[in-house]
Amino acid sequence: MASREPRVAIIGGGIGGLTFGIGLKRQLGFHNFTIYEQGADIGGTWRDNTYPGCCSDVPTHWYSLSTDLNPHWSRTHVPQAEIQAYWKRLAAKYALYGHTELFTRVRGAAWDAARALWVLELEDVRTHARRESEANVLISAVGLLMEPRFPPDLPGLERFGGALFHSARWDHGVELAGKRVAVIGNGCSGAQLVPEIVKESGISVVNFCRTPSWIIYRDRHAFKEWHKWVFAHVPFAMRLFRAYIMFLHEMGWPLYASVQSPARAKAEEAIKGFIRSVAPEKYHEKLMPDYPLACKRLVVDTGYLAALNRPNLDLNWDGIAEVTKEGILTQKGENLPFDVIIFATGYVADTYPVSVRGRDGLTIQEYFESQGGPTAYLSVAVPGFPNFYMLGGPNANTSIGSIIFFEECQTNLALQLSAPILTRSARALAVTRAACTAYNADLQARMARAVYPLCHSWYRAAGGAGKNFSIFPGPLARFWWITRAPVWAHFEMEGARRWWVRRVLGRVVWCAGVVAVLGCAVGVWRDPEGAERVGEVLREQCLRSWEFALEVVQRYVMAPLGIPSS
Ligand SMILES: Cc1cc2nc3c(=O)[nH]c(=O)nc-3n(C[C@H](O)[C@H](O)[C@H](O)COP(=O)(O)OP(=O)(O)OC[C@H]3O[C@@H](n4cnc5c(N)ncnc54)[C@H](O)[C@@H]3O)c2cc1C
Repeated sequence: MASREPRVAIIGGGIGGLTFGIGLKRQLGFHNFTIYEQGADIGGTWRDNTYPGCCSDVPTHWYSLSTDLNPHWSRTHVPQAEIQAYWKRLAAKYALYGHTELFTRVRGAAWDAARALWVLELEDVRTHARRESEANVLISAVGLLMEPRFPPDLPGLERFGGALFHSARWDHGVELAGKRVAVIGNGCSGAQLVPEIVKESGISVVNFCRTPSWIIYRDRHAFKEWHKWVFAHVPFAMRLFRAYIMFLHEMGWPLYASVQSPARAKAEEAIKGFIRSVAPEKYHEKLMPDYPLACKRLVVDTGYLAALNRPNLDLNWDGIAEVTKEGILTQKGENLPFDVIIFATGYVADTYPVSVRGRDGLTIQEYFESQGGPTAYLSVAVPGFPNFYMLGGPNANTSIGSIIFFEECQTNLALQLSAPILTRSARALAVTRAACTAYNADLQARMARAVYPLCHSWYRAAGGAGKNFSIFPGPLARFWWITRAPVWAHFEMEGARRWWVRRVLGRVVWCAGVVAVLGCAVGVWRDPEGAERVGEVLREQCLRSWEFALEVVQRYVMAPLGIPSS
């Protein structure tokens, strides 16, 4: 095993897994990797969420990969099918299908310390056949919003006589026209699908709501052909447009940054005004959030508020007591009959779905529980889990902003951390407990100063009231800054002698270069005639620098390692 080429295993073929595969090829020129995907295709979120109206709530020019901008996006916020097609194109462009094993679930992985390897347990989800595989580096890209969540305390789901499904597993075999439909939930998914399904002929819809959302206006429109032409042909136009979108979103940070914010109070009034101007008056009071703006994910209006004016749509705030054979019994004792019940009730976000067992015998889930919720260093590394990196990991999310931006930052950091292993310069590398603790103490202190502790949300553990494990409490640019390069002192390394030698040599060569350039400058300055002799000075200084570098290497690298200098 020791002599074979290092190998990378990636769990999950969504945006995160594909981004890492692309990074391995582009940045490291590394090809010995496999993406294990339990589904029938790549795409993750954008493969599974096919409900009517599903679309990006972040402008798509930003919700795309920085290395592969796309001038042909049809709209500012494109629908699911267009996003999925984009990622399938990238998978084909970078020949990732050849690296992907579909229908393959990673059931678990355990760190073999003696061989410095991850041993993976794989299952074919069609036949349930199991097998093992090994990898030097394990990447977790299992997604944050993958497992549909049904309200855990709602009785009677199995009793219902009609069709019942979750928005993330839309049953396209169920005809909605002419039916009585209950939609439970008014978050992002509910607010996207309701205005679409109410257009079905003869349908009547009741939307069960618990908490009002901050529903914001966003300019959403189709791109004209000349826009696309400019994006495709004018140098930097598309990149500038993308930077502008990011800049606008970053300008929103002061709204979230502090517990008290006059800017937020103004924005809240403006949004309430928008809601009142579009929604019917009978709902005004109910639709006004009683928690601060951006404390939870914002809902971008895709026609939800206007749809509330339709006679075939009702909002119900009474609470659901149970699901019955015929429909829904509300907490006010009203029995409402339905043919179809659709749950738009979000995802299981606070548990880690794979049994990844690290160096100290703990699984990731057990480690998370020991920390009061998902916890990682820079959202990427976990102490006690060598050569293991997470994409879409804890605290890499925003109230509004591109998750792809976060996943690219995480990919960039994880690639740099993987490089010593993949170049066989080190055997194992894990973040220190102290570095992880210090990072998270700082992160949670920033969180406490921001808006996020002021409401219950799925961003927080313990049923919405515990530690915030999801949000990064800062502008996205800060996340880029702190993940741009590893702080190697925060990592403990094993078998890394070659890596240190390379690093020291690299440093020495760099220093020698600087000394040579400075030496030349000083030489020319001290001897104005020297400008004519620049070549000679350069040669002389380079020679001196080289001798100096050799001496440093011999004295400080080779001698301590016992390597003879002759
Ligand atoms: C409806 C919806 C709309 C969204 N809109 C936006 C948006 O507009 N902007 C934004 O920034 N974010 C949005 N998000 C968040 C979105 O999830 C992320 O932007 C992004 O898609 C995450 O990609 P990912 O690869 O990390 O995870 P996912 O897309 O969840 O992919 C994870 C993949 O891992 C696979 N997997 C999981 N466990 C295993 C296992 N054990 N073995 C093998 N395979 C496994 C899954 O099958 C899946 O394919 C949205 C999410 C949803 C649900």
